[in-house]
Order: sequence, then structure tokens, then C-alpha cells
Amino acid sequence: MSDSNNTTNYVQNIARTIRIFDTTLRDGEQGAYCTMYTSEKIEIAKQLEKINVDVIEAGFAVSSKENFETMQKVSRAVKKPYLCGLARGIKGDIDATYQAYKDYEKRMIHIFVPVSKAIAAKLKKSDDELVRMAAFSVNYAKKYFDTVEFTPEDAARADFEMLEKVCRAVLNEGVSIIDIADTVSCAYPNEFGKLIARTKDFARSINPDVIIGVHCHNDLGLALANSLSAIENGAEQVECTINGIGERAGNCALEQIIAWSIARPDFFTTNANPKEIYKASELVAKATGTRNDFAPVVGKAVFSHKAGIHQHGITNNKNSYEFLDAEKFGRKSELVVGPHSGYHGVMAKASELGFSITKEEAYEVIAQVSELVRKKIQKRFSDDDLIKILQNMRETGFEPV
Ligand code: MN
Repeated sequence: MSDSNNTTNYVQNIARTIRIFDTTLRDGEQGAYCTMYTSEKIEIAKQLEKINVDVIEAGFAVSSKENFETMQKVSRAVKKPYLCGLARGIKGDIDATYQAYKDYEKRMIHIFVPVSKAIAAKLKKSDDELVRMAAFSVNYAKKYFDTVEFTPEDAARADFEMLEKVCRAVLNEGVSIIDIADTVSCAYPNEFGKLIARTKDFARSINPDVIIGVHCHNDLGLALANSLSAIENGAEQVECTINGIGERAGNCALEQIIAWSIARPDFFTTNANPKEIYKASELVAKATGTRNDFAPVVGKAVFSHKAGIHQHGITNNKNSYEFLDAEKFGRKSELVVGPHSGYHGVMAKASELGFSITKEEAYEVIAQVSELVRKKIQKRFSDDDLIKILQNMRETGFEPV
């Protein structure tokens, strides 16, 4: 752990309060299939306010009229969170962000300028020109925004020397947050953590109050791991999205970060209310038509138990096979019946559905379910399906042998 004890403000002890910067409405919407209507985004923003996220990035004002209007409308629909907007390091982008949020006091702006050769090449600018662009844009944005966040885009692939130059330039212009991005998802936790620690040490030597944020993508499945490594190494703000939606394989999922803070408050905490997460997840799933049933915390399957041994454990003691407490996240833990179920689970499930059955009757249910699967008639069994099986057994006067 290289978490610096010599830094000020936010680092009280090992467990720190991490700021949640939600970008569902900006990076999330940039994901394929994830375009949302303004009305849907306003509903999501209100739910994010109920989760109590620290920042909502509601759009990229200059990118479209719709994004601009969404930002304006979100700024009239919420009160508590900071509202952020994305901008390239150019005047027009900064002006548009200000115009969208000008009546909202807790406004902030998120400026990005590429620092890796791979991405900077598209702008056909030298390193010095990019440094000047970064400094100019932060300086200009400070006229309209007290809080300016700067992302050296693709920091994970940049030369540290270039990253340092850009950071120094924006720090000298009074930037509040430096956000280290694994834009293309190429870092692994250990090296990414080192980059965070090194950047933080450097940045704090210029401004001891600067906040280090982190922005990770999930192309190689490491968005959460890299974000946790960043937190371990001193990051104090995590950018994330509901359901992990976002460019390509998506961003770090907000619900996974919050789940970690609930499961391991000795590591870090947040100001978020986990009970409101599931509702946000459902709103995002509905607006985008995308969802992953096995996604941690919010997936349909993740608090369900189907196999006999697990059902037996759960009916005795929930803690046996369920580490996260479903209810803390506005979920319910469920027993699902299938061919792998055992009599403990089936008896408990039947009782939930209003049937008191014997062990032998439970075995008969499992036998019937297994036959339906074996004969390729049915493979999923809802509560209604089970009620039908149980009623049918009663009507046909099932007598255990
Ligand atoms: Mn991104």
C-alpha cells in the first residue's frame, strides 16, 4: 500500500469517504444501444440524487442540442449533487457547458485533453501545444466554474513525463480534480495503482488540496479492480455508471463500488444510499433496453439460490451462501426451483407460496421438474409454474410412497 500518510484533508485514516461521480448520463449513454430520451435521463438523475451520489455528469453540452437541453433540464430537476458537463479543451465547449448550467450553483466542468501519443495523434498537435491547450482551457473555465476537473485522456498509456507536464500546467491554473483515466482499459491493478500514487504525490506537491479521481473501462473485465487499486493508492473520487454501461464494454459499475464500501467499510466508505440503487438500475435497464442478469448487485439472478446444497444452507442461515445482504441493496433473496434443488429448498419455497408440504411431496416436485427438463418441455420455473404443480399434486391426491 502506497497510500500516502503525508497528504492532507481527505485521508483521515485508512478508511476514507470516496466521492461518487456518476457518468451514466454521459459516458454511459455513449455505449452502443444506450441512447436515452431526455425524459428518461431526468428520471434517472432524480434517482441518482436519491442514491446521494456526489456528482452527476449529465452530458456533453456541445455534442448535441438534446444533450444541452438535458443538462439544462436536469439542473432544474435536482438540488443536491454537483452537476458536471464534459468539454474538450476549447472555448466553445466550455461556453456551452456554462450556458447549460448557469443557473445551477453547484456546477462543475470536466475538461479532457489527450496525453497519449495514440490518441493525441488525431489532433495533430505537439506535446507543447497540448500542454498549452490544457492550461488555457482550465484558466478559461475558472471564470465560470469554481470546480474544474481535468482528465488527461488515456493517462494509462501516456509517458509519465508528458502526464506530469500537463498536470503541472492545469494545477498552476487552479484545477480542483485530476482524473486519471484508463480510457481504453489496458491497465492492470498493480501498475495502475502505482500510476495513481505517483500522480498524486506529484500533484499534491504543487497543490496539497487537489483531488485525484479515477475513470476506468471494462474491456478486460478490470474496471472495478483497477478502481479499487486506485482507491487503495489514494484516489478519492470514482467515476462510474449504473449497470456499468458505457463505451465498448462499459465503465466501472456504481453498484459494485458501493457494494465494496458496504461489504468492507474498513477499506472505504461513500455517502451513497444503497437501497436506492436497484430502482436506478431498473430505470437504466428500461431506458437502454440492456441488462445483464449476472451483474453483481443488480442482476436478476444474483440473490437467487437454485442448487440443493446452497438452498439447504440458505434456509438454515442466510449468511452461509450470501455474503452481500440483498435487503441492503433494495433486493430480496430468493429460492428458485430447478432439477438441482433439494427438499429443504422446495419445502421452504412451497411454504412461501402458501403450501405446507412433506419431504416426500418436495421430492415429487423435484421429480416432476426434472422430467419436464429431460423431455425438453420447460427449463425455467416461475412461482406460478410451481403453484400449478403443487395444486395439481393436491388435486390428483398425490400419495407419497
Ligand atoms: Mn470513458
